Amino acid sequence: MKSDIQIAQEAEQRPIKEIASKLNIDELQYEPYGRNKAKLPLNLIDEEKVKKSNLVLVTAITPTPAGEGKTTTSIGLSMGLNRVGKNAIVVIREPSLGPVFGIKGGAAGGGYSQVIPMEEINLHFTGDMAAVEKAHNLLVALVDNILQFKNDQFEIDPRTITLKRVMDMNDRALRNIVIGLGGTTQGVPRETGFNITAASEVMAILCLATDLEDLKKRLGNMLIGYTFDGDPVFARDINAHGAMATLLKEAIKPNLVQTLEGTPAIIHGGPFANIAQGTNTVLATKMGMSLADYTITEAGFASELGAEKFFDIKCKSGGLEPVAVVIVATIRALKYHGGAKLADLANEDIEALQKGFANLDKHIENIQHFGYQPVIGINQFATDSEKEIALLEEYCEKKGVKVALNSSWEKGGEGAEDLVQKVIEAAESYKNTFKFLYNNEFSFKEKIEAIATKMYGAKGVEYSLKARKNLEQYEKLGVDLNVCIAKTQKSLSDDAKLKGRPTDFIITIRDVEIASGAGFIIPIAGSIMRMPGLPKVPSAEKIDIDVEGNISGLF
Ligand code: ADP
Ligand code: MG
Repeated sequence: MKSDIQIAQEAEQRPIKEIASKLNIDELQYEPYGRNKAKLPLNLIDEEKVKKSNLVLVTAITPTPAGEGKTTTSIGLSMGLNRVGKNAIVVIREPSLGPVFGIKGGAAGGGYSQVIPMEEINLHFTGDMAAVEKAHNLLVALVDNILQFKNDQFEIDPRTITLKRVMDMNDRALRNIVIGLGGTTQGVPRETGFNITAASEVMAILCLATDLEDLKKRLGNMLIGYTFDGDPVFARDINAHGAMATLLKEAIKPNLVQTLEGTPAIIHGGPFANIAQGTNTVLATKMGMSLADYTITEAGFASELGAEKFFDIKCKSGGLEPVAVVIVATIRALKYHGGAKLADLANEDIEALQKGFANLDKHIENIQHFGYQPVIGINQFATDSEKEIALLEEYCEKKGVKVALNSSWEKGGEGAEDLVQKVIEAAESYKNTFKFLYNNEFSFKEKIEAIATKMYGAKGVEYSLKARKNLEQYEKLGVDLNVCIAKTQKSLSDDAKLKGRPTDFIITIRDVEIASGAGFIIPIAGSIMRMPGLPKVPSAEKIDIDVEGNISGLF
């Protein structure tokens, strides 16, 4: 099997004009970015079409460290739908630069289910990340400027400023720093640091905004810190939101590219999946739905995180309603949940597989909580044995759950044939049964407990003193906020070591943060990394470019 980058480089790239014409948009309606990328202006969004279009969410069981193939499945499914004559599009997140140079692994799919040009998608792409970074850093620069010149007017207590600066690079040395050293003209000294750009609240906001006006409003709602008297100070109070939105005027437009088979693909926005909602922009999803009959999209991590946030945060903010949900399952991950070691996942192990089914059960139940009967998409790996696959299929059929073997990583759209049929069946029989997990009237604690008990399977929730104090403080703000829990993706529980389907556990919320612009509080259940470091041997050491501009070593 060829490497992902070899497959991507050998693919025939169609001019973007051809891809746009598949969506019935002509040259005057889109903005080309080179030969094979384009920005789609927001006036192409048609709310009437959004109401009628079929949105399909791809989620997954609890992953192994390698990821279980949600992006690969989403791309394969969109290509497969096109093969049977459906007008389909795949809409996914933009990768962050950090992981590209750290641990090998991109976010443009894999094998014969990829989006191209993959090098560009994984490197600067159309500059959206840079724009988010600039808009975010402008806000922090304005705050430090207030400390320098006019804090007698604003009275911001510098010790309460939780906003850090952001940069799209894995750089642990910038996590904690002191700025403003050097004397009276060099700023006011304070302790701060950097996060990676994808962790910026501006990214979460861009991904939830429904238009430029809403973007500006949300940016203005970002909490900067508190005054010496303890009153909150928002970005709008220092007039930062207008300039921030201006910096985002191009980044707000969804990016059009193509899959290896020339299926239209939109890649737009990339927020973290723990401290944020982990899914592409609302606008990109609506754009897809305006232009195609089937829009396939994914949500980060497994169902208890990604799908939950997709439904309760994104669908709520954007007024979206999927018609079908795919749960990606792999034989490898199920064996891992059943006790097999990572190094042994290539070996047949019926016992471990059967034990691992418990993890799948919980993810099926999770999706049912939202009113859907999921389709299980088995992402086939070369190491899966026939017996193992048959067992999993049989297990799902016995439960009355639709299941399809999907080999689109190896075969592209053709490999998704079975999944395509099952998804069409699910979509066509969908009866508007979607429901949120919690109501807006719930208190913060009730919302948190609904997620912890219904999605994670916890017995209850415990709060640290700090978490309780913060919740009280946020309640005083009097704004209706969703809940975006930051938890490990490695387990259904908040303990990464607990595989399978943990029971009888308590979720511990040790802190609660707020993203008032994005519109949620962030209860922290575990330690969350916002500025990754590079590994001892970073993949950057192997990446190279030759005199003709050919890139090597990138995946
Ligand atoms: P997710 O979106 O769930 O994180 P991805 O689709 O990005 O997962 O896949 C994670 C990695 O696994 C990618 O490098 C991809 O190429 C690889 N992968 C996915 N499916 C398969 C498969 N069936 N066989 C081999 N490798 C796969
Ligand atoms: Mg993915």
